[in-house]
Amino acid sequence: MAKDLKFSEYPFKVPSEKTIVAKCEKLVKDIIDSKDAKTCITAIKKWNKYSNTLNTQVSIIYVLYSLETDNKKYVKAQDKVNEISPVLSNYSNRIAKFITKVSFRAELEKKFGAYLFEMYDASLKAFDEKLIPDMIEENKLTSEYDQILGGAQIEFDGKVLNLSQLGKYMQDKDQEVRKSAAIAMDKWLGEHEEAIGNIYDKLVHLRDGMAKKLGFDNFVELGYLRLGRTDYNAKMVADYRAQIAKDVVPLCNKLYKEQMKNLGIKKPQYYDYNLMFKSGNPTPAGEEKYLIEKAYEMYSALGTESKEFFKFMMDHELLDLTARKGKTTGGYCTSFSDYKAPFIFSNFNGTSGDVNVLTHEGGHAFQYYLSRDIKIPEYVNPTLESCEIHSMSMEFFAWPYMEGFFGKDAEKYKYSHLCDAIEFLPYGITIDEFQHWVYENPNATHEERCAKFHEIESRYTPHKKYDFTPTLAKGTYWLRQSHVFGSPFYYIDYTLAQVCAFQFANENLKDHDKAWKKYVKLCKCGGKYPFLTLLEKNHIRNPFVDGTVKKAIAPLKKVLATFDSSKF
Ligand code: ZN
Repeated sequence: MAKDLKFSEYPFKVPSEKTIVAKCEKLVKDIIDSKDAKTCITAIKKWNKYSNTLNTQVSIIYVLYSLETDNKKYVKAQDKVNEISPVLSNYSNRIAKFITKVSFRAELEKKFGAYLFEMYDASLKAFDEKLIPDMIEENKLTSEYDQILGGAQIEFDGKVLNLSQLGKYMQDKDQEVRKSAAIAMDKWLGEHEEAIGNIYDKLVHLRDGMAKKLGFDNFVELGYLRLGRTDYNAKMVADYRAQIAKDVVPLCNKLYKEQMKNLGIKKPQYYDYNLMFKSGNPTPAGEEKYLIEKAYEMYSALGTESKEFFKFMMDHELLDLTARKGKTTGGYCTSFSDYKAPFIFSNFNGTSGDVNVLTHEGGHAFQYYLSRDIKIPEYVNPTLESCEIHSMSMEFFAWPYMEGFFGKDAEKYKYSHLCDAIEFLPYGITIDEFQHWVYENPNATHEERCAKFHEIESRYTPHKKYDFTPTLAKGTYWLRQSHVFGSPFYYIDYTLAQVCAFQFANENLKDHDKAWKKYVKLCKCGGKYPFLTLLEKNHIRNPFVDGTVKKAIAPLKKVLATFDSSKF
């Protein structure tokens, strides 16, 4: 039974490496020494219990650290966790090595399901102890990248701003403000282009080297394995990108034209598209307390499970939403397995993003809440593309409740939310196609990479013009996309999930009860199946099948037509 504690009552324990190593050695030895399936199953259960407790401690530390990055106690604890994590992954690797090759594997598969073993097989193909120094180097390079971006200090408007603060000016209602902010950004990028380009070059060679050490031709297949993609490959992804190019890019070009017509801009630049409406972007009708109240109303109306879920979040202090000094940036959803509790972190700042947290991160948290009783830890959360279906679909289930969140701006929000969701797809495939090319041509120079990026973006996002921003004009937009550096090939997942979420959006319009039931069932599956099986079991059309994108988009075109965007 999970203890019924509130977040502030959770014990704060800093793990000691010595204790952990001793305990893990013992538990792993018990697994490896087992002579039959029954003993092995008991030993695995003990290991699972302990690793759940460890993961809970690690999550608590991470959350506390992200809430108070200026608290020395938490910074020290987080440093400790960073040191210990590679040691822990080595234990999982030893277990995987043993149980995938053991004589009684079939009996274990019967108990735990074959998919767990497919995951282990994939993780073994993607990992070898001899790669550890390369992996440490990879982490180091990624942090160097994060530090350059996070440490950006740009003088603008009489202030010194970081990139996200400057980003706000690029959405300003005044075109001149947008333009000068974009020029300041471009200047900063120009000054750091060489340093960032060098980091990427090192990462590409490092990853290519790791792939070759494991016997792969290049990093592509290894990258897929690292993401746990057991049921689709690069060829299927390339064909899927072609669907987006054919069925979504022309629609986006039309939407962009309309947007510029409404704004009255004759020769738009890339930053002009950040402003959706002449009257400004939609803003929520209240702050945290108000929005939480509205969210509770929404989750209560959606269904009994979601009502119980949101009440649980409120009663157990599992929401920390408003921006404060000391908090890290961004937003995320995590969980504490020993308490069977999800947690949502964000930085409310009075923009429509605040509502997205309550719907998008809320969707992630709801899925965890519904699968928290799954016994096998590997089956609680699915792979990343599946995870985003839960969150992105919830954004659409939330549509009928937007009057509560936005008041008079509700219609504006819905229209811009739908446009954003559709318009994201061409950018998503740009980033993905670029990465495939990079790892298939690891010896290309920085200039060649930029030229390739420029060629791809001209095909998929031809509306973007960089007349006043010479660095971006060279094809360097990707330098600011952190996924390209830290999580190769991950980006396409958002687009795959979006195409699935569109299906929920469409079904919700036709028959809410049926669509909601289907969604709850999907969430309850947790991570029991790989992506394509999960879709099949839940009657969601497979994005890789030709025609799926077109079918998902067609009804949305009709929804778009119900809005008169010139009035906003
Ligand atoms: Zn998400």
